Amino acid sequence: MSKYEVVVVGGGQNSLSAAAYMAAAGMKVLVLDKNPSFGGGAVSHQLTAPGFIHDPHAGQMVLIMANPMIANDELGLMSKFGLKFCQPDVGHATVFDDNSYLCTHFSVDKTCESIAQFSKRDADAYRALVKQAEGMSDLFVSGLFKPPLPFGGFMAMLDQSIEGQQLAGTLLKSAYNVVCDLYEHEKVRIHFLKWVSEIMIGPEEAGTGVIPMFLAAMQHKYHPGCVVGGSQGLSNALVRCIEHHGGEVRVNSEVIKVNTSGGKAKSVTLKSGETIEAGKAVVANVHPWNLGSMIEGIDPGVAARAKATRLSAFGAVNTHWALKEAPKYKAGHDVDTAAVVEPAPASMEKFRQHFDQMRYGHIPDSINASVQHNSNFDKTRVPNGQGAALYLYHFVPFKLAGKELSYWDEVKDAVKEDMLRRYQGITTNMTADNIIASAIETPYDMHKWSPSFQNGDIMGVGTYIDQWSGRRPTPELAQYRVPGINGLYLSGPFLHPGGTVTGGGRCTAMQLMGDLGVKHSHIMSV
Ligand SMILES: Cc1cc2nc3c(=O)[nH]c(=O)nc-3n(C[C@H](O)[C@H](O)[C@H](O)COP(=O)(O)OP(=O)(O)OC[C@H]3O[C@@H](n4cnc5c(N)ncnc54)[C@H](O)[C@@H]3O)c2cc1C
Repeated sequence: MSKYEVVVVGGGQNSLSAAAYMAAAGMKVLVLDKNPSFGGGAVSHQLTAPGFIHDPHAGQMVLIMANPMIANDELGLMSKFGLKFCQPDVGHATVFDDNSYLCTHFSVDKTCESIAQFSKRDADAYRALVKQAEGMSDLFVSGLFKPPLPFGGFMAMLDQSIEGQQLAGTLLKSAYNVVCDLYEHEKVRIHFLKWVSEIMIGPEEAGTGVIPMFLAAMQHKYHPGCVVGGSQGLSNALVRCIEHHGGEVRVNSEVIKVNTSGGKAKSVTLKSGETIEAGKAVVANVHPWNLGSMIEGIDPGVAARAKATRLSAFGAVNTHWALKEAPKYKAGHDVDTAAVVEPAPASMEKFRQHFDQMRYGHIPDSINASVQHNSNFDKTRVPNGQGAALYLYHFVPFKLAGKELSYWDEVKDAVKEDMLRRYQGITTNMTADNIIASAIETPYDMHKWSPSFQNGDIMGVGTYIDQWSGRRPTPELAQYRVPGINGLYLSGPFLHPGGTVTGGGRCTAMQLMGDLGVKHSHIMSV
């Protein structure tokens, strides 16, 4: 008899949420993470100076807010295990390089007022889009947090009605096409396209067309925000939940092999040499590129097709700044109140060129950043509630032209200073006397921290239409099972619902518990 029914490889928010659902259903689970701390991309560290809490990776919580794990507090993460969110009114503000700005508020009316400064017609078009998105939001959301329909079946379902056919058409277009059809003003278009590009593929990529509508539904219904105390708070609450239900979480435990016998997952082997039996199943947060080397006995065809999946189009550097006082924007005080500030060029031509520059391995030649100043809202992130912990993230290619990934180590300090110089262009007080300390994380650092982030891809694999939903990462792996190996399940950003913090392990847990006939009374809505 093995001590554990399910052994979970990886302690990021996806596999922790899978483990938490299984533990809450009475299963005996063990979670193993290679790092000295659990959480993967949802962690918080004192990266710069004592008392300044930074989120090195995820800081903004968007999709997870719609997950019934949070929206219905299915696991008691908020009511019992200490998870708290801070949800500012302004979800995101684009600050253009001419210091004009545009805000998306939680309130639709206020958002339309902000858009109307540029175009009354665009404000009306946005209001109509939100109305349409509200009608679709149950369809969007109910499909996000359960195993996806096979892609063919999904498209066939959409084909049954005029509305469905229109949605399918939008889905197959690019966000650029959709946004240019909807809005007339260049800055309004850039505002929404900049937000879309946070999925780390260019907005001209076919298959991104539904995202503007989807984000409108998320923004005004589920109210994105950040975790009080840092994103680690989410991972901590999940671990408390697992331990409360008798599960275990171990750090410094790298799994090098999932062992199978007779077509069934049996155990895992750690780098230390230890082998741990899994009585019923193994859940593996293993990147599609690593399935062939890590899963004993996997069908070579399954592994080869997984290995052929494509990464996102670009990555990011993330810089962190401990400041005496919070940044002040030349654009005005309204911008400080935004959860995310998206600095971008004021011209569409320049904005589009950035994506071309990254395609050829160059850092965009002007600002294309994403800034979070969560300590403006959450004073627990700074010592004695004083100062600011700034998150200044900027799109870059995974690899610089002609260089290996490790080359980032040679240029990281210079790149950090370059990011500061760009940010100084839109702020008034990012001067040497305001900066206490700073740090940078490059795609190479991300790659080393989590195998999910191959080459620094924060989304696991690209969210292209051929790697989306029932085709993510490949059609045969998209149901979280591995053909030919019973008792092996997958979790991670490379599976539906995809990258970012989603609590998507709920889907893996549903599939596993469904197969094993385990009752899951915590899952209230399916
Ligand atoms: C710089 C940066 C900024 C980001 N910003 C945001 C944001 O603002 N909002 C947002 O929603 N998302 C953001 N993301 C993306 C988000 O962090 C990820 O998509 C998300 O964390 C993926 O979750 P996961 O649990 O599937 O994988 P991960 O978070 O990568 O966790 C996987 C875990 O598994 C462990 N592991 C893997 N293989 C093994 C093994 N063989 N043995 C033991 N342990 C193993 C890893 O150590 C890791 O801890 C950002 C990411 C980065 C890097």
